[in-house]
Amino acid sequence: MPKNKLKVLMASAEITPFAKVGGLADVVGSLPPALKKLGCDVRLIMPLYGSIDRKKYRLKKILTDQKIFSAGKITIINLWQSYLPNTKVPIYFIDAPEFFQAKAVYLDKNNAERFLFFSLASLRVLPLIKFLPDIVHCHDFHTGLIPDLLKTTEFTFFKDIKTLFTIHNLNYQGKSEIEVLKTGNLTPHSLACLSQDAQDGDINFIVQGILNADIINTVSKTYTKEIATSQYGAGLDKIVRSRKKDLYGIVNGIDTNFFNPAKDKLIKQKYSTKSLNKKIFNKLALQKKVGLPQNKNIALAGLISRFVWQKGLDLFTEELPKLDCQFVVLGTGQKHYEQNLKKLAKKFPYKFSAQIKFDEKLAHLIYAGADIFLMPSRFEPCGLGQLISMRYGTVPIVRRTGGLADTVTIKQGFSFKEFSTTAFRRTIKKALNMYYKESYKWKQLQINGMNKDFSWHKSAQEYIKLYRKVLVKKY
Ligand code: ADP
Repeated sequence: MPKNKLKVLMASAEITPFAKVGGLADVVGSLPPALKKLGCDVRLIMPLYGSIDRKKYRLKKILTDQKIFSAGKITIINLWQSYLPNTKVPIYFIDAPEFFQAKAVYLDKNNAERFLFFSLASLRVLPLIKFLPDIVHCHDFHTGLIPDLLKTTEFTFFKDIKTLFTIHNLNYQGKSEIEVLKTGNLTPHSLACLSQDAQDGDINFIVQGILNADIINTVSKTYTKEIATSQYGAGLDKIVRSRKKDLYGIVNGIDTNFFNPAKDKLIKQKYSTKSLNKKIFNKLALQKKVGLPQNKNIALAGLISRFVWQKGLDLFTEELPKLDCQFVVLGTGQKHYEQNLKKLAKKFPYKFSAQIKFDEKLAHLIYAGADIFLMPSRFEPCGLGQLISMRYGTVPIVRRTGGLADTVTIKQGFSFKEFSTTAFRRTIKKALNMYYKESYKWKQLQINGMNKDFSWHKSAQEYIKLYRKVLVKKY
């Protein structure tokens, strides 16, 4: 690490453990401690949602009744501070009840406006807390307009701050009516990239992040290549290609302390590569918990996911429970997926269990107790489920796309390319064949997965390199 300490502000809509909807929260909650270890002064900022327990997480109010000028009026905010649990990474919370009083992270409407206000307030508090970052590291569409706000502000305080925009999922774009710009005290004429974007009648937050950040990255090398194609570009492939020379891919890590079968307090029986035979007690506990017959001899496949189009749940048909395998799925999302999975559970009660909820504890028991972990995603920027499952010696079966293609090789699991029920079923059958007939090979897959390094260390080093690249970038 060079003499001068890098100062980074990370702004995100979700951060584990304070508020989580998907993998974004896990990433922003676990990368910073690794950056801090490498000598970086990294601080986080997020909205103070109604669901965040101020007592439990020891939040302290550090600024009261601050005036933020937005959309022609004054909005009063407070700023709270705490630390990422068990670390010295500071985290700030924008307390603006008008926008974030609700318990949910995302609401049915006004998300673009809510997160633009958050972006504006996140910058406005920096001089007040006397933190002048070298870089604001923005995550996903919610913070896509931070580069615009920095480029248009009249305050000299902000003039040297650079931006890195990380795309965790290109399909969530934050499209909004042009009027939303008022919230950021902007107009389509404020910047060329805004007028360009406004030509089609709306403002697309992720487009702004892509066009306007100094450097951009996605969360795996394959996804970085994929989003430049029409198949995976979610309508933005041309825009992505226009920034190709500033676009990088850095694969996610996981919190290897939290996800550790040898220390996990949320599972029935702790185990490691040396005591892999003990994993079976988690399987029996899992079968009992989700109402499947307790049988240590039958293979058990798990899935933990948001139930959305991306995740490939259409591949769950009646053919699956007919295989010599039990299934447990955990998740919530679009009603038609929930209904289809519940229907399978009703029709095949001894083979299929559908757990329609968000349940951290059950998720850990599935990672530890299942033999196989399923991720048949249509696209997957990185994916964390497969990393966590490998850490627990649970063999992944994944569709070969994005981060799944980069992290699961034949040494740790199985993959298929064609998005079809036939290819999915064929691959599960192949895995079951090895599970039942070649147990020594199966055990090797488990051990290879468990021995793989999923810590943030290497990727955090890559982020530091990227930050340095942003700072020396010539225009
Ligand atoms: P995405 O970010 O697209 O949702 P990832 O695989 O990157 O997908 O991350 C999902 C994270 O959320 C994982 O940590 C997974 O275990 C967790 N998760 C998803 N659904 C649930 C659920 N219903 N209960 C508990 N954890 C869940």
